[in-house]
Amino acid sequence: MEVVRITPRGYCHGVVEAIRIAKRVGSDRAEGEQVTMLGYLVHNEHVTRELEEHGVALVDAPDRMKGLDQIKSGTVVFTAHGISPLVVAEAERRGLNVVDATCSDVTRTHDLVRRLTGEGYHVVYIGKRGHPEPAGALGVAPDATTLVERIEEVDDLDFPAGTRLAVTCQTTLSMWDTKTIIDRLVERFPDIAVHNEICLATQQRQEAAVLAATDVDCVVVVGSRLSSNSLRLVQVVEERAGKPAFLVDTAADVRPEWFAGMRRIGVTAGASTPTQLTRAVITSIEALPETSAAAV
Ligand code: SF4
Repeated sequence: MEVVRITPRGYCHGVVEAIRIAKRVGSDRAEGEQVTMLGYLVHNEHVTRELEEHGVALVDAPDRMKGLDQIKSGTVVFTAHGISPLVVAEAERRGLNVVDATCSDVTRTHDLVRRLTGEGYHVVYIGKRGHPEPAGALGVAPDATTLVERIEEVDDLDFPAGTRLAVTCQTTLSMWDTKTIIDRLVERFPDIAVHNEICLATQQRQEAAVLAATDVDCVVVVGSRLSSNSLRLVQVVEERAGKPAFLVDTAADVRPEWFAGMRRIGVTAGASTPTQLTRAVITSIEALPETSAAAV
């Protein structure tokens, strides 16, 4: 089976930096000190296990404030997805040492929301409900932001006359979905100030996957089901290139029957996927005999 390695793929700068910070904090911890990440530092189980081996425990709860209740002492590490200032303040009030591993691209969005709401704008934030990144960004100005997930929700928006509006978004969404929602917002609110904050790493991985997908039979995305950017890679390959796409966490998830009748398989990986996992997936696909796969 021929594998087309799609580039860029895998770790982005924000993930590399967050892992570096968490590992350092874990390694430097004092005797008996608890170090805890509040939620998955990045959305990948394998990274989480590795961090646990470095002394960084995981507390995962439905929301960050509830998770804080489970951390009684020591150091709390905030994840790459960003954190609401309300949670940071509460952690400090409880006497925890605070370490922030938020990606600089997410921090930029927080700064943007802070600036815009400070200037009197109401910010429409496009993002996925229940994902930690929107929760952190909306927490910057809870009373001056509105979360929108689907295009249909734009039609239900209603603001008092004279409201100055701006729109921004989660960094890891589909570029195309986001543009469609922004276009609808501009249609409804022609004066809305547009700030598309999809990060460069997400854009480059999505563009590369869609482009490569035109020249392969299907695309395998290596990443976690928890990972927004990995799920979006599957989505954009299916929707933009019209090719099948399969999400696998490890090589053990690869199913030979997916590739029946196929010859060229594209492989990409989410921004939080360790390189060795992607390498193992590539090796396992390359080892599949083309004829037997076609015969499955
Ligand atoms: S995907 Fe983008 S926003 Fe998320 S950690 Fe990577 S660079 Fe930062």
